[in-house]
Amino acid sequence: IEQTAYHNDKLAMLGKISAAIAHEIRNPLTSIRGFIQLLRPHLIQLGRDEYARIILAEIDRANDIIHEFLNSSKPTVPLKSIVDISTLLKEAVLLTESEALMKNCEVILNLQEDRVLNVSIDTKQIKQVILNIIKNAMEAIEEIEDDHGGIIAISTQPDGEFVNIIIQDNGNGMDKALMNRLFDPFFTTKENGTGLGLSVSYRIIKNHRGDITVDSTKGMGTVFVITLPMVGERL
Ligand code: ADP
Ligand code: MG
Repeated sequence: IEQTAYHNDKLAMLGKISAAIAHEIRNPLTSIRGFIQLLRPHLIQLGRDEYARIILAEIDRANDIIHEFLNSSKPTVPLKSIVDISTLLKEAVLLTESEALMKNCEVILNLQEDRVLNVSIDTKQIKQVILNIIKNAMEAIEEIEDDHGGIIAISTQPDGEFVNIIIQDNGNGMDKALMNRLFDPFFTTKENGTGLGLSVSYRIIKNHRGDITVDSTKGMGTVFVITLPMVGERL
């Protein structure tokens, strides 16, 4: 399905709205954060450090949401540099380690150690895409009732001038109807979801002349495939 025109309309509108309000919300959040930090020693004395910790964590969460909204309005031209995709994946996975531990999932990396897979990418943007997908995978694993030890397997596979990044989970999976909507801006099945992670990821990958596809079976798990053009080796 060609979703791009529809996406760009919705995301452009979202961009205007979020840029207008984000600034107004960020400033008070910043001052609240500062004052809580000043109060923290007093709260610790009162044995109430837990309150400070929760307030700070919630302010950070609010900031993250604003950040996610703003990201969808950012200029779309990627700031590219040439990197080995394996290096980027290792860095991204490292960032998910503590959360994986908390959620009892294992993130497994199967990389092509014998081959350098160079891509020309905006590393910040592509790392964000990988993190969005891993985060969703962890949340899909949490949805499963029995504690079956979640597994998120990430592998790379060169394919001609392209490289496929395959991210597979054994979470709760999706039916066809859900799969058809998951790249739509604001589409979420989560109580605290923004429904922006995948629509932003979709746009980032398209701006890199790549592709992102999904296959899933309800109750079994999901596999995302990101395809990016590789940079040819120079002789
Ligand atoms: P959010 O995570 O805020 O809900 P996303 O755009 O990241 O927004 O994802 C949209 C929806 O796609 C999710 O609410 C979920 O229903 C579905 N989804 C995404 N990834 C997975 C996955 N790995 N397994 C099952 N469902 C998923
Ligand atoms: Mg998400």
